[in-house]
Amino acid sequence: MPTITLPDGSEKHFEHAVTVMDVAQSIGPGLAKAAIAGRVNGVLLDTCIPIEQDSELSIITSRNDEGVEIIRHSFAHLVGHAVKQLYPEAKMAIGPVIDNGFYYDIAYSRPFTPDDLVKIESRMKELIKLDYDVVVEVVSKEKAHAAFVEREEPYKQQIVEEIPDGEVIKLYHHEEYTDMCRGPHVPNTRHLRYFKLMKVAGAYWRGDSNNEMLQRVYGTAWSSKKELKAYLRLLEEAEKRDHRKLGRELELFMFHQYAPGAPFWLPKGEHIYQKLSRGMRDLLVDKSGYVSVKTPLMFDKQLWETSGHWEHYSENMYSFEEGESSSGGHDHSHGHDHSSCRTFGLKPMNCPAHMLIFGSQKRSHKELPMRIHDQGVLHRNELSGALSGLTRVRQFCQDDAHVFCMESQIEAEVSALLGLIERIYTAFDMGYSIKLSTRPEKYMGDLEVWNQAEQSLKNALEASGQEYSINEGDGAFYGPKIDFEVLDAIGRAFQCATIQLDFQLPKRFDLTYVGADNAPHRPVVIHRAILGSFERFIGILIEHYEGKFPVWLAPEQVRLLTISEKFEEYAAQVEAKLKEIGVQVTWDNSSNKIGYKIREARNARVPYRVVIGAKEQENASVSVACRDNGDLAREPLSCSSASRTAYNESG
Ligand code: ZN
Repeated sequence: MPTITLPDGSEKHFEHAVTVMDVAQSIGPGLAKAAIAGRVNGVLLDTCIPIEQDSELSIITSRNDEGVEIIRHSFAHLVGHAVKQLYPEAKMAIGPVIDNGFYYDIAYSRPFTPDDLVKIESRMKELIKLDYDVVVEVVSKEKAHAAFVEREEPYKQQIVEEIPDGEVIKLYHHEEYTDMCRGPHVPNTRHLRYFKLMKVAGAYWRGDSNNEMLQRVYGTAWSSKKELKAYLRLLEEAEKRDHRKLGRELELFMFHQYAPGAPFWLPKGEHIYQKLSRGMRDLLVDKSGYVSVKTPLMFDKQLWETSGHWEHYSENMYSFEEGESSSGGHDHSHGHDHSSCRTFGLKPMNCPAHMLIFGSQKRSHKELPMRIHDQGVLHRNELSGALSGLTRVRQFCQDDAHVFCMESQIEAEVSALLGLIERIYTAFDMGYSIKLSTRPEKYMGDLEVWNQAEQSLKNALEASGQEYSINEGDGAFYGPKIDFEVLDAIGRAFQCATIQLDFQLPKRFDLTYVGADNAPHRPVVIHRAILGSFERFIGILIEHYEGKFPVWLAPEQVRLLTISEKFEEYAAQVEAKLKEIGVQVTWDNSSNKIGYKIREARNARVPYRVVIGAKEQENASVSVACRDNGDLAREPLSCSSASRTAYNESG
């Protein structure tokens, strides 16, 4: 006789074992219709499994995140149902839930085509309309195995074989189709309505390239039409803004097969790059107490051994042996003299170089905090398959810096950084969220130092008045960190800034400073970047602004459009005047019609178009049209905001 306690604290007594569905029904028919599963004493359960003990129960519907997840998972099974009807020879592997949807890995004799995808989707829709019940069956391992032998599903058999003995195995029957899953699943396909199959891609069984290639069918699914539509709209918007496409159209950057993952910055892109890089350097060096350095690109392997990169990061590094000595071939010894060979690695990070700078002199506590900024070129060996536009590149520069300080200075340093970060992201009209990651189970260093450092980070965050969340135990083994995720104009989040404390690297390099007590002490290092890599950040900015860069960042701020050749002399005067006050101005003096010139300037997303014709010449004025607000009035020849610069200058 179980007593069921509901989330509002009310209790319901039953004479016999009940299911989630029974309880839902006892509350009301509406809830019974909406019930997808139950959370019973913290565990998700199918609606038809009997509950025999006193339990706490909350009923899951499509309004809960768990409900949506269950819907997505059930959609994966529905893919299986449809695929096996259409392609009986197909073998089903696994079908998990992912962000915004689901996928199913399927073995088939040929790759699925877009046409196949359309067929599968429409068959799924037909099946949904049947509103059939999804039937759960709890079975033994043997029975599960037998079921998939009978169905000739080798992948499922393999999965069953690996399930530990004694674990509950559930089969889910979608009419004639059977799948296996932990569940729970929707009780009826009427809960499955709002979905779309997105694409098909190859994927190796178990992610191992030694295994056979399967077909991965991706889909998205939601609990309402509105959400599905909103998601598809977001994708469309994202596609429109795709920086790879806009980068080409706006002539910002390019790639070439001879240098995979290394962008070529074309003049307009280089302009933006310089604005950001110079702006950042000036902000840090002129206004925030940093010094700027340049350090070598390649270092002897010994450095990487000291820093630990050789052990932990070498597969991401480009390394090579130094060639034979250039002494000119007077080497009479036989064979190769291996002792003269040195191994070098291209730097994937600046930190070790900065450790060398700090360690190159005797340091006093009076020099701390020492903030070393470096926009050095970094190389990381990303897999060629992972390269994608500016999002993932092999060669890049960061707005990197390392702050060497005393433990007592951590809080003030982090406070200053929080201020900088706010200032910079605000300049780009970007919101952001903050996450503090604390000591993991496996950590190195002194517990006391960890605790103090974490407290300093918390104090700085509290004092900033900004909201933040805590990721307990998610810090690096060498120190706690704060991560920042920026939100772009269409609500997507990107990890950018990071503030990472490090107690280990100074130790590896045996760095010390002389304290006020005249004794040597170990500094703490703060690794920090605000934009992250310039490359990736520009990619984010292109999409954030849809190529419509704010005036201070735009590579072309004003475009002059002459109506005919007759006005070229006046146009030249206007151009000279604008250049004089530092405006990035170009002049379209082609023989195209004015309407065409205007269209071109619009497509190039130039903030201001200045049309020059008879009237303008007569009155020594210009007609200004603004990219964002349409036409402005005819203005006398003076330019106000176009020459304003970066986040350095307020207002
Ligand atoms: Zn670093």
